[in-house]
Amino acid sequence: KVSVVLFTSDLRLHDHPPLRAALAGADEVVPLFVCDDAIGASGYAAPNRRAFLADCLGDLDAGLRERGGRLVVRAGDVVEQVCAVAAEAGAGEVHMADDVSGYAQRRSERLRKALEAAGRRLAVHDAVVTVVPPGAVVPQNSGHFAVFTPYFRRWSEVSLRKPLAAPRAVRVPDAVRSGDLPARSDVKGTSPALAKGGEREGRADMSAWLRSGLAAYEDRHDDMAGDATSRLSPHLHFGALSATELVHRARGAGGPGADAFVRQLCWRDFHHQVLAVRPAASHEDYRSHGDRWRSERSAGEEITAWKEGRTGYPVVDAAMRQLAHEGWMHNRGRLLAGSFLAKTLYVDWRIGAAHFLELLVDGDIANNQLNWQWIAGTGTDSRPNRVLNPVTQGKRYDPDGVYVRRWVPELAGIEGGAVHEPWKLRGSRRVGPDYPDPLVELADGLARFRRARGKE
Ligand code: FAD
Repeated sequence: KVSVVLFTSDLRLHDHPPLRAALAGADEVVPLFVCDDAIGASGYAAPNRRAFLADCLGDLDAGLRERGGRLVVRAGDVVEQVCAVAAEAGAGEVHMADDVSGYAQRRSERLRKALEAAGRRLAVHDAVVTVVPPGAVVPQNSGHFAVFTPYFRRWSEVSLRKPLAAPRAVRVPDAVRSGDLPARSDVKGTSPALAKGGEREGRADMSAWLRSGLAAYEDRHDDMAGDATSRLSPHLHFGALSATELVHRARGAGGPGADAFVRQLCWRDFHHQVLAVRPAASHEDYRSHGDRWRSERSAGEEITAWKEGRTGYPVVDAAMRQLAHEGWMHNRGRLLAGSFLAKTLYVDWRIGAAHFLELLVDGDIANNQLNWQWIAGTGTDSRPNRVLNPVTQGKRYDPDGVYVRRWVPELAGIEGGAVHEPWKLRGSRRVGPDYPDPLVELADGLARFRRARGKE
């Protein structure tokens, strides 16, 4: 008996329920990844994520080879390719992880129908991408939680399955042919300091984090210069790490750092459960305020300055430059850069979200789009009209200005927290001549936003 396991956002061998189920029911298994034309054509396959994906696939193949197997890679329409591989292998079942985006939901529906028409079965496994399956925790009177805190309370009570060990051996039928694995070196246009991907890398990072970062997380997660968050987000996005395993291990470690970290992982599930029932929230306001956002046409130069880290607000510029350089940004930077674009400049959040997706190695349809909606006040934030002030926030979360000076060399001559207000030092030699004046006065931006939201 043969089964196929279709890998999507779950590029790992540890804690992999579809693989476990396939191995339990078959003598041979085809571990399959399809480089999906539809995703390639969607613009979603940005260079940083393609490069990281290549690492993940290479490592998955290596892990399978150590166990006597290999990864089968195909390219084309995902449904056609899975059906073709299932036919070649004579497989009766295909196993895959459940996922939440509109595209992922349509993909499994199409696949189910196509396989059933050929007399085969699709098994979709939940709690692979998320810790708690979307829909498993629901409020009494509506389809999903729109507020985080009550969701978190209920989520915390769910008893989780035990993480599964990686299989010892995987036998893959010889007859099934594979295309070439994509290589990271073939991907052009990546960020200079892009992280390395793969399950082994992810597991090493996870162990190091649990050992030496987790305990201080509660105190240090907003310390922008300290860079004291886990940086596990790319591994979680590609599923090289299991979020379930991470929750188990963090809870095992215990303490306030672990509690705060697990709460953050719950945000990931929270956004996934929203997107599962509202797939259109990837591009439509979750809660509309009738915003008439500024667009590329009306705010083109300001948008470009924002993207290039030239807004004149140091902490925003530092964050945007970190994004370009690493393909990753500190969460506090994401909040400040996002609030600045959507609220201070009053630019359509979709423009910011698209730019983040172009660069973020952890760029994720649920987390990115719904965090953007949150910061734009069109999402689940219960205080949708609050505006983050980049100067006071900069002083609070980068009090000595170390983060700003790391990323904005024009300001390297300013010591301490004064770096957050370089306009006060204009004319002195301490401010590089190329560093711009503020793009907009914060008070003007705030007034425009309040007018737009009818909050004058
Ligand atoms: P840690 O602080 O170590 O947190 C651990 C994990 O918890 C993260 O890896 C992530 O999986 C999860 N997490 C933490 N915060 C959030 C959150 N607010 N929402 C959802 N999950 C969270 N996260 C992404 O994974 N992909 C994105 O595309 C993304 N886009 C964002 C866009 C904006 C505008 C904002 C404000 C936030 C975005 N986030 C996104 C959430 C968060 O900023 C990142 O998950 C976090 O910075 C990743 O760094 P870390 O792994 O060191 O996080």
